[in-house]
Order: sequence, then C-alpha cells, then structure tokens
Amino acid sequence: MDMDKLVSLCKRRGFLFQSSEIYGGLNGFWDYGPLGVELKRNVKEAWWRDMVTGHDDLATLPGAPAPYEMTGLDCTIIMHPQVWKCSGHYDLFHDMMVDCKECQGRWRVDHVASSECPRKPSKHPGGFEKCQLTEPREFNLMFPTTVGALSGEEGRAFLRPETAQGIFVNFKNVTDSTRVRLPFGIAQIGKSFRNEITPRNFTFRSREFEQMEIEFFCHPNSSPEWYRYWRDRRFQWYLDHGLSSGKLRLREHDQDELSHYSCGTADIEYSFPFLQQGEFGELEGIAHRADFDLRSHMEGKLVKNEEGCLVVEQTADGKARHRGSGKDLSYRDDVTGERYVPHVIEPSAGADRATLAFLCEAYHEDQQPDENGKMQERTVLKLHPRLAPIKAAVFPLVKKDGMPEVAQRIYRNLKRRFNVYYDEKGAVGRRYRRQDEAGTPFCVTVDGQTLQDNTVTIRDRDSLEQWRVKADDVLDEIAVKLL
Ligand code: ATP
Repeated sequence: MDMDKLVSLCKRRGFLFQSSEIYGGLNGFWDYGPLGVELKRNVKEAWWRDMVTGHDDLATLPGAPAPYEMTGLDCTIIMHPQVWKCSGHYDLFHDMMVDCKECQGRWRVDHVASSECPRKPSKHPGGFEKCQLTEPREFNLMFPTTVGALSGEEGRAFLRPETAQGIFVNFKNVTDSTRVRLPFGIAQIGKSFRNEITPRNFTFRSREFEQMEIEFFCHPNSSPEWYRYWRDRRFQWYLDHGLSSGKLRLREHDQDELSHYSCGTADIEYSFPFLQQGEFGELEGIAHRADFDLRSHMEGKLVKNEEGCLVVEQTADGKARHRGSGKDLSYRDDVTGERYVPHVIEPSAGADRATLAFLCEAYHEDQQPDENGKMQERTVLKLHPRLAPIKAAVFPLVKKDGMPEVAQRIYRNLKRRFNVYYDEKGAVGRRYRRQDEAGTPFCVTVDGQTLQDNTVTIRDRDSLEQWRVKADDVLDEIAVKLL
C-alpha cells in the first residue's frame, strides 16, 4: 500500500489535518477531522466497552486464571511534580539526540540511520562531507510547564508523558471508595505528551497523543499467569477488529531488553507501510511491572542494587534522592488476612497508533463497474463496521416522486441509534463511491420499487452485494451487522 495515497485520502476526506495548518503547521501535532474524530472515538469506545463496561466480573474468561473486576478513572494531565520524580521519568525519561551544527537539524541517535540529511537527502545525517554532528546528548521528553504565578523550580510541573501514573497514585482511593477486591484492573484513556526529538511517520510518532492504559493489580504468586492472559487477550482484540492480514505480530522482549523492574514484556506490533520491509512499529506494550510502581510511590524512586534488589536511590549524604509519599499502598486480603504490595500487569496502548493501523489495513483499491457497466477505479476503506465513522448512508435514487421523503424517514429512524449520512446529490454511483472512501459499511437506497412495496436495497461495501428489505426493518438489519 502506498502511504502517500492514504495520507492524501485522510486530508481530502477529513480524517486528519496537520495542526495549525494555516500557519504552516506544527511538527508532531495532528487534528482529527469530521470523519477522523468518529473513527478514533469508535476505537476508544470499543476498547472501553470491551475492557471495562462490558467486562463480566463474575465469569472466568477464557485464558484467565480467575474472575476479575474492572473499573475506570480519568486523571489530570498535570500532576504533582513528585509523581514524575518517584516514577523515574524525571531522571530517566530521555532519548539520546545529536544536532548538526551545519544545518541545525536534530535527530534521535537511533533514528539517524533511517533519516535523510537535509542538505543531501541521498545520505544519512553525518554521511555528507559538510555535516557536523555533535556528540550524543540526553534529552528529557517531558514537556515542562508552570503552575500558577510561581516561576522557577517551585511552580515547575510537567504534562504527563503517560496516563499510568494517575492510576498508581489513586490506587488507595479506588480500593477505599469501591468494593473492588484483587485481582482487578483500573483503566484510563487520555492525552499524553512527549517532546519527541524526531516526530514522524504521520501520527505514529506525535508529540501529543492519546493512550488507553490498564493497570491490573494481582497477587505476586499469580502475576506471571495474568501477564500471559493480558498479552494474549490484547493481541486477539486487534485481530478481532480487522488487523488480520498477517501484518500484526506479538513479540516477547529478550531478557536484555527488559526494564530493570520487569519480569516480562511483550509488544504488539504492526508492519506499517511507511516502515522498511521486515520492520514493525509498536501499537501496544504489555509489561509485567511487579511491585515497582506502588513501592516507588510509597518509598521513593527505586533503583536496582548490586544484588539485583530494588532499593530507594540515595544521595551521597544518605538521603532518598526522590522521597515517596510515605502512604501505605499495600493491600490486605479480607479473607486470608494477608497484607502485600500487589503486582501490576500493564497493557499500554496508543489510540492514535491503533487508529492509524486500522486505516492502513482498511485501505484498498479495486475496479468496480459504474452505472453504465464501465470499470472504474474504486478506493475503499474496509474498516470493521464497529469502527467505521458512518454506519450507513441513505439515498433516494432520484430527487423526486416522493423518494426523498421516504429516505429522510429512514435516515431519521437510523439516526436514533447510529451515525448516519443522508445524500441526494449527484449520480448514485458517485454517492456509493464517496461512502466507500469514508469506510461506510452499508448504503440504503430508496428507489421506484420502494414506492410500490415499501422495500429498499441495502448494499454491502465489501462484497457489493445488494438485497431488499422492508423499510421498517432497516434498523434491525443493520444493527445486527454492527456488533
Ligand atoms: P516507542 O518506542 O515507539 O517510542 P514506547 O515504547 O516509548 O514507544 P510506551 O511508553 O510503551 O511507548 O507507550 C505505550 C503506547 O503509547 C505505545 O505502544 C504507543 O501506542 C503509544 N505511544 C507512545 N509514544 C507515542 C508517540 N510519540 N506518538 C503516538 N503514540 C505513542
């Protein structure tokens, strides 16, 4: 698939626009247009429904070690600065970058080999004789900001680089204010910000993006089983929503790739068309984080000592480098009386990367006959009906003989349940093709026969099959196909 064609479709049909485009745009920031906002909302709503509100707390789901509960949160983007000191982001959340003194370009060190020199695009930065690259330096990815009127260190805060920390610091609030018992998960969807050195590949690497994260709390003895459960469950979720062409893979990290606290991490990756052959981009990471996060917020920033144990990092004078909250975030099991710090499994997904992968997978071109039987090139987004921005379009075949009135009645009836589009302008073949490009799974057409027997045609976007149903049954007919 040609990525340029998808990018141009996204702009032309209102899926994605560059942020602040009339002022020349801002690198790494993207706006979702009228179709894009619906698509991304559907991705987030499908995730929330499947992971949280639709979750059955009573059953043991296939592959799960036991029944479990799920609940949600919506935390602030700006949090107490100590959160990021204890989580490790303040000291460690950086990438290595190099600058070029000749062209003022700036790259992540590990992106140099896949970037072009602005002065000589056939070479990588550093490969052209005039390049003057600096030594690699650390660059913290958190966006600093100022809270209130205080300037300097006192008012300094950060835009969150992940949603996860809001969940950890509310762990006790959730257990105290609800009846959840371990094992249970807390989910959150929200914006995160990273001052990426080289934002690129459309929305894949942006500076403002949305995450869909779960922190799943469980007993340390069962955490490896829960890790495997979440890894497989999340992989299946993408397959179920259409990423089934063999471009999706689940990759377990090697031992040397694991973070210092992690006992296991897997990435769900997609072979995006903008990557080299054989390369994959991360959609979601599933990490076994043990008790690292809750302990960090109790005790202070943790580091691994020589014996491989996590201990509070100390300054030269023996004080904690970053002091924790001092609050007890352990959990007491009412039944057994056991008290322990829960282990955490974290499935952390990006709503924008998932949306982009669904778009890439959905993009197809084929040849279809027009109303005169002549073969025409067709562009179609074969999005899963649950994700499609518009679920159905309703057309009167012609703008007369009472057809618009019947079509508008059907449109209003469908509107009660879904996002539906009404179109009476131009040749019907053109109207079908506009909906194919938008990914609309069903088109309903009112024609001459409707006026005689009150039936309409429904056309399927992918198979192009058309069948007649009673006008009163259109809503039910489409509703079952959208599940
Ligand atoms: P990468 O290595 O690609 O930068 P990461 O390993 O730093 O990603 P995580 O910290 O695990 O990513 O974040 C979880 C998810 O958040 C990612 O799988 C991705 O879907 C999303 N995400 C992270 N950074 C970005 C970004 N700059 N733009 C869009 N989505 C992002």
